[in-house]
Amino acid sequence: MTLTLGTATRDRLRIAIQKSGRLAEPARKLLAACGLSWRESRDKLFCYGETLPVDLLLVRDDDIPGLIADGVCDLGVVGRNELEEQAGTRLRNGLAPAYRELRGLGFGQCRLMLAVPEDWDWTGPGQIKDKGLRIATSYPAILGQWLAREGIDAQVVELSGSVEIAPRLGTAELICDLVSSGATLVANQLKPVENLLDSEAVLAGPAGSFDDARAGLAQMLLRRVDGVLQLKDRKLLMFNAAREALPALEQLLQDAGPLVVVPDQGRPGGNGTLALQTMCEGTVSWQQLEDLERAGARGLMVLTVERSLA
Ligand code: ATP
Ligand code: ZN
Repeated sequence: MTLTLGTATRDRLRIAIQKSGRLAEPARKLLAACGLSWRESRDKLFCYGETLPVDLLLVRDDDIPGLIADGVCDLGVVGRNELEEQAGTRLRNGLAPAYRELRGLGFGQCRLMLAVPEDWDWTGPGQIKDKGLRIATSYPAILGQWLAREGIDAQVVELSGSVEIAPRLGTAELICDLVSSGATLVANQLKPVENLLDSEAVLAGPAGSFDDARAGLAQMLLRRVDGVLQLKDRKLLMFNAAREALPALEQLLQDAGPLVVVPDQGRPGGNGTLALQTMCEGTVSWQQLEDLERAGARGLMVLTVERSLA
């Protein structure tokens, strides 16, 4: 089933991103890499798209799912944790999610974890069953779903911030909070024991589809986002080698993409040497280049790929 959003047709796409915080800068960078540029308004809440009819709304991350659900914004860059939490709350209130995750964006990674005082010997969720313990969190919906799944009867203490100090303040025995490096937990004599959600920044959009110019714009943007995500850490490796050296070189390049022979189109001085290229994930180290050279590769070059359309 495809839903039609709102009644007003729009010919510009509006994307909500975090105004300031962990996701603000990487979200802008990603969209800029997709070829968008903006003119900022004086209040710095709205950025008018210059290169394409794609505008930005700069907001608190908590507001992004609601803005999409209400059709105020068409797309948003937000943590999966926020999206899932608000979907859980909507579900509890008998509302459909109204938005969906379109792409994982590979930044803002963190995990929503249950953490206990570091001196506890954790044996598993069964340990807190029927103990009537209190768990402090800013994610009551996700935690509630997990507790229900595990059949644990605990009291959820909802806090909007500084969740990690709740055990020291005596307001809860455990916490459920976002963890990236884990340093905050250590500083508060806590340790993570159960992972409730693997999170990262995601591109979110409405559950339905657009029926105006936004459809084409969203499709183009998604294609560009895919292009940018794919390129991340990709390098084009180019070199020359004699045909006899190919098996040894292929052996060394097992983890790379297929080794492609570039047609020499009758270039002079070819004398049996092949021009070769392959796509590599991640960095290509000096050591790898030297190993390839020993195996017969010459004129090795590592190039950064700037743009590609799959
Ligand atoms: P806002 O003012 O927009 O409400 P905030 O304080 O809620 O900001 P940030 O702390 O900037 O938000 O975090 C935004 C998102 O970054 C989180 O929702 C989460 O997806 C991600 N994130 C990554 N690592 C962490 C972490 N260690 N702690 C909290 N959030 C993290
Ligand atoms: Zn927030």
